[in-house]
Amino acid sequence: MSDAARMPLPSGPSAVPSAARAQCQRAPLGLLAELTHRCPLQCPYCSNPLALEGAGAELDTATWQQVLRQALDLGVLQLHLSGGEPTLRRDLEEIVATASKLGLYTNLITAGVLLTGQRLEDLAARGLDHVQISIQDVEPANADRIAHYEGAHVKKRQLAHWVREAGLALTINAPVHRQNLDRLPGIIDFAVEVGAGRLEVAHVQYYGWALRNRKALMPTRSQVKRSMDVVEGARERLKGILVIDCVVPDYYATWPKPCMGGWGRGIVNVTPSGKVLPCHAAETIPGLVFDNVRDRPLAEIWLNGQAFEKFRGTDWMQEPCRSCERREIDWGGCRCQAFALAGDAAAADPACVKSRHHAEMVALAEREADQPAPAFAYRRPLKPAKPAVAETS
Ligand code: SF4
Ligand code: SF4
Repeated sequence: MSDAARMPLPSGPSAVPSAARAQCQRAPLGLLAELTHRCPLQCPYCSNPLALEGAGAELDTATWQQVLRQALDLGVLQLHLSGGEPTLRRDLEEIVATASKLGLYTNLITAGVLLTGQRLEDLAARGLDHVQISIQDVEPANADRIAHYEGAHVKKRQLAHWVREAGLALTINAPVHRQNLDRLPGIIDFAVEVGAGRLEVAHVQYYGWALRNRKALMPTRSQVKRSMDVVEGARERLKGILVIDCVVPDYYATWPKPCMGGWGRGIVNVTPSGKVLPCHAAETIPGLVFDNVRDRPLAEIWLNGQAFEKFRGTDWMQEPCRSCERREIDWGGCRCQAFALAGDAAAADPACVKSRHHAEMVALAEREADQPAPAFAYRRPLKPAKPAVAETS
């Protein structure tokens, strides 16, 4: 699922901190559990890796339940059930029930085209707290074209109503880019209309499938500027009704974001096959070793795993980060982006104005945004997605 880095951090129940949490100053707040990479949609900005993990490699129910218990012991308070499309797992109900019994605040991140009202009610009865539905646009034909799934948008609207009827908290996640950003006012209206408490306007981040489709997705600077004005106005107008999360996209930013709240600080990510990652794109960085929950307890991996220790804190930093006054604000930004654009995962994120690659990154964005958008290279499904629609642009 796209944009895990911007997952909502609900103020949700304060589960009793475990002994392990008390002992561990670096306990992650959230576990991002990617239950499967399978998905009926084919978004061209999907944050899943280009090499998707197949159904045969997925952890079984008992292992996921064990991971949840280990996460609680580590100090995790929030569980984000993601994918791919997590509702493709037939054992989702059992996983939710286990999380709920453990006292984890449970958030389902879904593409929203497979859930029925009955199944949602069942999940709510088993303790689901929150649902996050991603939308591709508010113009249905364009939304379905981007998702490469006919009728997707209508189903998402229906699900949003069911979520509110079931009394669950709702977030709308809207990955935005050059092919939908001009309809942001409509996206905001949609979130209000369906009763969401939060809207994430998530500018696409360029790794995985999005990096492959960057030319088709990169917005112009003026599009971004207009969208920030729209967000400002809406935040003022919708105070007390809708919280809107939105930050300037990296390619047009001055300072980087603290990606994932800092490497190995806020979120721990488990892939469908059990690999434990500091962020969902970490596998794009060569030389990192990812331990698996089948082989090693989660807490041990979090505290001592090579991939976590590699870029945790500030010791790994080189200049200009090492002596920068913002180093414990943004933690040097995104390691994956530093590797993708600067060729060095230990470099300052090129989104930072102090990076020697910053000007190059901005010029690249402006150049690509000024060219006509090429056709999407859709996320390759593991089995043919149905019903698919032909791309029209
Ligand atoms: S294809 Fe789209 S809906 Fe499916 S996991 Fe990727 S971003 Fe999410
Ligand atoms: S130099 Fe490094 S620490 Fe300082 S603002 Fe830039 S990325 Fe952040």
